[in-house]
Amino acid sequence: MSSTDHDASPEPIAFIDLRAQYRRLKADIDAAIARVLEDGRYVMGPAVAELEAALAARAGVAHAVTCASGTDALQIALMGEGIGPGDAVFIPSFTFTATAEVVALIGAAPVFVDVVEETYMIDPADLAARVSRVADEGRLVPRAVIAADLFGQAADYDSLAPIAAERGMLLIADAAQSFGGTSGGRPVGALAPVTTTSFYPAKPLGCFGDGGALFTDDAARAARWRSIRQHGTGEGKYDIVRIGLNSRFDTLQAAVLLAKLPAFDAEIAARERVAALYDSMLAGAVGLPGRLPGRRSTWAQYTIRLDRRDEVQAALAGQGIPTAVHYPLPMHLQPAYRSWGEGAGSLPVSERLCRRVLCLPMHADLDEPTAMRIARAVRDAAGG
Ligand SMILES: *Cc1c(COP(=O)(O)O)cnc(C)c1O
Repeated sequence: MSSTDHDASPEPIAFIDLRAQYRRLKADIDAAIARVLEDGRYVMGPAVAELEAALAARAGVAHAVTCASGTDALQIALMGEGIGPGDAVFIPSFTFTATAEVVALIGAAPVFVDVVEETYMIDPADLAARVSRVADEGRLVPRAVIAADLFGQAADYDSLAPIAAERGMLLIADAAQSFGGTSGGRPVGALAPVTTTSFYPAKPLGCFGDGGALFTDDAARAARWRSIRQHGTGEGKYDIVRIGLNSRFDTLQAAVLLAKLPAFDAEIAARERVAALYDSMLAGAVGLPGRLPGRRSTWAQYTIRLDRRDEVQAALAGQGIPTAVHYPLPMHLQPAYRSWGEGAGSLPVSERLCRRVLCLPMHADLDEPTAMRIARAVRDAAGG
């Protein structure tokens, strides 16, 4: 090779390229931010209600309530039902910390459930077994199930809903990674009685800071959430009817999301093209992300399963290909949550996945030649 060969030093590859998205949408985003700065209503300004209306329409539900983060959205969902000490909330062990954290924060007991290997999501059969056990023991009251739509695909709500209904439990969809997706033609947001999402920058619909939202068709529930996110206020500003939080969504961030929303569907389609390319080039070489029927995934992550994961990850890093491990340790083995779990070996699928998963670069601005280069490198490293 000659020293002028450009292939010898390719452009660095981004895992999630937020700057490319900003450059693509810069004119609209900058104008939206400038409008808020000029307007001066920085907390609960008009863009917040405008965004909530747009989100509710997208989600196919009557009410969307924004808040300060996806974690707060989950906490507000549980607080809104009065869930607390003595209550059991069932959650997958293979998930982001926030799903478990909020349960412990409100004083309830997280009960960890195993997941399905191919889809990475809560296993309805294991859930049914653990709910029965908790109910039979009689120490805790089964109150809610939080299903995480991991990596962008809606969970198996058709199987989960009857299990929750049988015990009068609330089914909550943690759609932090899946907002914008659909199942059977129905949008994420309308697949469970309560849905939460996150606008963390790296999520499929991300702002430039923290943010989140809750979705429901139930007006009374939405009213409780609006009260909780604003210090538990009632009719008047100093009329405090419950214990709440300061969890409002910034006007600036709402304006950013309003500017990003028109491009969102095309971005999801671009991510699907990357996923389809990875699928076709990696089939047979690694475990592909399992697709549930009738889903449109937002592809928050493209997550494969393979042996010698750490070796392959290091080999890819050596070629300038960034990857991530979501997640390296299941929640029931984390030091902070061990006391609620039953130790190593109790949730074998979650434990095995944490040793085998690897997330590949995934974003709407990932071009085809780069995606092919990544897939080829993964195939070579995993096969070698
Ligand atoms: C990101 C995420 C959250 C938390 O959202 P934040 O906005 O970061 O608080 C909760 N659950 C899942 C599954 C997530 O991926």
